[in-house]
Amino acid sequence: MVRLIFLGPPGAGKGTQADLLAHSLSIPHISTGEILRNAVAHKTDLGLKAQAYMDAGELVPDQLILDMVRDRLTQSDAKPGWILDGFPRNVSQAEFLDALLGEINQSYDCVINLDVPDEVLVLRLLSRGRKDDSEDVIRNRLEVYRSQTAPLIGLYNDRSQLVSVNGSQPIESVTQELKTIVQSR
Ligand code: AMP
Repeated sequence: MVRLIFLGPPGAGKGTQADLLAHSLSIPHISTGEILRNAVAHKTDLGLKAQAYMDAGELVPDQLILDMVRDRLTQSDAKPGWILDGFPRNVSQAEFLDALLGEINQSYDCVINLDVPDEVLVLRLLSRGRKDDSEDVIRNRLEVYRSQTAPLIGLYNDRSQLVSVNGSQPIESVTQELKTIVQSR
């Protein structure tokens, strides 16, 4: 049973690595950003409410995110494990996650912090070409990460739940390191 939380700035490679690792472990890769982009594409109620925040590089309000995460984590395919990518994104989401996992009798193995310097992040994001990857929006997403998400590094570190990985290595090296971490737990 493997349950992991992927933390790290936009462009750190969370999505890529979570996808590879989830695939090799046969557990779902749960990306809140991906769920939201899907909702936007299908113009669901959630998508319509979330779109402006996403386009601006702001966090979508917790009230829209929390039910979505509860629904996803309680689906049957998430019973054998999961990798959470992009959630929690602030301290109140981290508190919600702890409460939710307590309720459904689950815990996670550790929080993986993918560490990548800012210069590398901006280059990666600019070359990705997603709708929210324009230069202004990138700058805002990094700012939002620093102010709202980065405090989680300290929070999980204080609880000895944090494992940092150098995310500026080649993709295969990061994947290998992650597999070693999983095997050692
Ligand atoms: P990501 O794919 O994780 O980079 O997320 C893309 C965008 O979706 C973010 O810039 C936010 O607008 C929104 N988003 C994703 N996850 C969350 C979350 N946990 N809380 C709030 N907004 C989120």
